[in-house]
Amino acid sequence: MTWRATVEELVREFRASGRIVIVGASLAGLRAAETLREEGFTGSLTIIGDEPYEPYDRPPLSKQVLKGWVPADHTKLPRMREVDADWRLGVAAIGLDRAAKQVRLADGEQVPYDRLLIATGTRARQWPNPDEAALDGVHTIRSRDDAEQLQKELAEPPSRVLVIGAGFIGSEVASVCRELDIPVTVVERGSAPLVGALGGVIGEIAAQMQRDHGVDLRCGLGVSSLEGDAAGHVRRARLSDGSTVDADVVVASLGSIRNVEWLEGSGLAAGFWGVGCDAGGRAFDINGVVTDSIFVAGDVARAPHVLYEYQFLAMEHWDNAVLGAEAAAHNMVNLEPNYRPHLLLPGFWSGQFGVNIKSVGVPPFGDEIVFTQGSVEERHFAAAYGHRGRIVAAVTFDHGKWLEYYGKLIEQSGPFPPPPPGWDQPPDVKPMPAEFPDPRVPTAIPDVVLTGHAPSERTAEFRPRHR
Ligand SMILES: Cc1cc2nc3c(=O)[nH]c(=O)nc-3n(C[C@H](O)[C@H](O)[C@H](O)COP(=O)(O)OP(=O)(O)OC[C@H]3O[C@@H](n4cnc5c(N)ncnc54)[C@H](O)[C@@H]3O)c2cc1C
Repeated sequence: MTWRATVEELVREFRASGRIVIVGASLAGLRAAETLREEGFTGSLTIIGDEPYEPYDRPPLSKQVLKGWVPADHTKLPRMREVDADWRLGVAAIGLDRAAKQVRLADGEQVPYDRLLIATGTRARQWPNPDEAALDGVHTIRSRDDAEQLQKELAEPPSRVLVIGAGFIGSEVASVCRELDIPVTVVERGSAPLVGALGGVIGEIAAQMQRDHGVDLRCGLGVSSLEGDAAGHVRRARLSDGSTVDADVVVASLGSIRNVEWLEGSGLAAGFWGVGCDAGGRAFDINGVVTDSIFVAGDVARAPHVLYEYQFLAMEHWDNAVLGAEAAAHNMVNLEPNYRPHLLLPGFWSGQFGVNIKSVGVPPFGDEIVFTQGSVEERHFAAAYGHRGRIVAAVTFDHGKWLEYYGKLIEQSGPFPPPPPGWDQPPDVKPMPAEFPDPRVPTAIPDVVLTGHAPSERTAEFRPRHR
């Protein structure tokens, strides 16, 4: 038998009777499991998830669920196909032994694997003072249970809601409050809502949109402390300018934290921005060597992107979880010439204040912006972001049907400013600075981040070889 034939035989054997373990039983984990079975993997499949529920969808949690339109337990993800798997729900993975190829669970069990997929996503960053975070009425929103509890309290209704942080989720919560006619104050440390994700020019439009809908928006300020009543219910917030806001529901929307702690000591490239992997989802070890048996997908993955100078991108988007999981699962059961890259052009959508906001590409990669279509006054427009004469992203407010046009231009490294699509062009089109905040200034962290390298953070170790 030739070497090649032997390897092919091994892969065939693995597909028939190998052991795959997926840690993280949510969007990426489920879609990966479905792809593995679709690709003909008939070996043992174990899916480990620390939540007690079957995989459910998160985007509706800050939208339809909070409005009371959809009960939190009606968000189960639709199944694309049958998945024959051993589901271990309600138990966390707490360690990874790469030498023994075992995942250690919180209940003491060790689960062996031949190939492992890490899909542990992110969690909400909690309000930093634990006593204040424990007050009744103080919320974050990531899980089904979070949304269910918050929805109940919004239905009462509260006299005022305070939202801390005006990223996408914070802004969506504020929008729901206004739809429910609940007074809401939004406090944002940056200069405007969505400024980390879309820059100051778009941020100003978002700010005006919030104010027009009756949001008491306070930018350039922080919340210093939360105060509760004798019964332990939050009643007031003290802001960094000394002012106070009376509120009986507080939603801390402070961005997310990657679930990587369980990988400590595993020697994988896991850190603040997630687990480093190649564009095919294969995890890197801490020295940047690609592993053969460990893959990563979804919010917890960070991978180099050919369109963005091979910088590592961390994306907290639905499409990224689905397509990244499909690519990783395919690569887990195939041989190298058939590996598939996960080269998604990042994109997101958000519904707030009656406007559908969509984007493609990586806006913070751009330093300039130009309005290309529609009218800012009517909040019905498209704008493109540029970097060194090339289009790198676009955003639309109620103009999403043009996104594909911009997406194609971005994929082809088209020029900036881009050629107008033919009609609807505003007069006096001129590029201007996109006004992204200095990355050192704390503000809402965008959903797509160029994670790069922090020169001050030396995590690799160089050991010269001794003869
Ligand atoms: C409120 C909200 C609104 C959103 N809206 C949008 C939107 O409008 N558009 C959009 O594109 N995206 C949106 N997103 C983002 C989108 O939901 C995520 O990109 C997607 O859920 C990522 O899927 P994932 O499987 O990678 O991670 P997750 O969904 O975070 O799942 C990871 C799973 O792993 C589990 N886990 C973590 N650690 C362990 C462990 N040690 N052991 C076992 N299990 C573990 C977690 O509990 C979780 O169940 C939204 C997210 C939220 C929270």
